Amino acid sequence: MREAIARAEVGDEQKQEDPTVRRLERMVAELLGQEEGLYLPSGTMANILGMKLHTRPGDEVVMHAASHTAHYEVGGPAVHSGATVYPLAGTHGRFTGDQLEGAIRPRSWHFARTRLVWIEQTHNLAGGCVWPLDQLQDVLQVAKSHGLATHLDGARLLNASVATGIPARRYAEVFDTAWLDMSKGLGAPVGAVLTGSLELMREARRLKHMFGGAMRQAGIIAAAGVYALEHHVERLAEDHANARFLADGIAAIPGVKLDPSPETNIVFFDVRGTGRTAPELVDGLLGRGVRMGAYGRTRIRAVTHLDVNRGGIIRALEALRQVLGE
Ligand SMILES: *Cc1c(COP(=O)(O)O)cnc(C)c1O
Repeated sequence: MREAIARAEVGDEQKQEDPTVRRLERMVAELLGQEEGLYLPSGTMANILGMKLHTRPGDEVVMHAASHTAHYEVGGPAVHSGATVYPLAGTHGRFTGDQLEGAIRPRSWHFARTRLVWIEQTHNLAGGCVWPLDQLQDVLQVAKSHGLATHLDGARLLNASVATGIPARRYAEVFDTAWLDMSKGLGAPVGAVLTGSLELMREARRLKHMFGGAMRQAGIIAAAGVYALEHHVERLAEDHANARFLADGIAAIPGVKLDPSPETNIVFFDVRGTGRTAPELVDGLLGRGVRMGAYGRTRIRAVTHLDVNRGGIIRALEALRQVLGE
């Protein structure tokens, strides 16, 4: 990847003259079955632009209560779009067409205008869970029948695709906007690509410039994205196998409970039964060179990725047993 970065052909990205950026945009648009792609500095910006494209201030966006956008994007929907979030409950980060139907506001001057349906695939906080295609289509069908716009937060979409064998485009082409993160499991240092119709991406390009996201010789970083798509997609299966191996090891530790059983590269577990807290255990692990994340008092998240091999997973399990034994 470093060599691909060094060799990258570049131009002025603001003028759409960077050939490597254009190549990455085309690759992702094709992969997701969308007309056009737009390279962005981050996934967060893909969500900011996605929401702004589809809403006006005062509009409401329906999403799962545990969405990344509802928790980790600094209140961005309120600040950048003036939008309110209607949070839906449901296991595995998913909800149903019926739930969406029930969330759509009646047309009346009392209510915000329901405008956009927001789906995360795979779902981070739910534990890397995959939306099955039929459930996705059910929800999208209800959205379309009410004239709602649809946005796919596909930061980890390729994990869903590799886990199920269903091409990414089948999950993504049904949305008005969909995006991929280059810097999660794909392992590029920077960037995300938002996709949609030519018309929507033309407007998204304007917004990108407004937010200070237009760049110059961005082919330097886009080259890493191209390399990742060419070399790091199929290997996501290794991350999934490592997550499964880690999960099996964790499940064998007394007092520790998987929540849920992992489907892709994210492993969540609850340590309530050990009498210890998540922040305390995560600190102990860090002292042994293993980084996991504390989510609340007793929940811990571990993510497998291309910088962690099977040997690293075995070390992580040993460290966890030691920290719990102290
Ligand atoms: C990481 C992530 C984002 C934000 O992407 P960045 O590239 O970190 O800005 C958005 N949604 C989900 C589901 C994510 O996992």
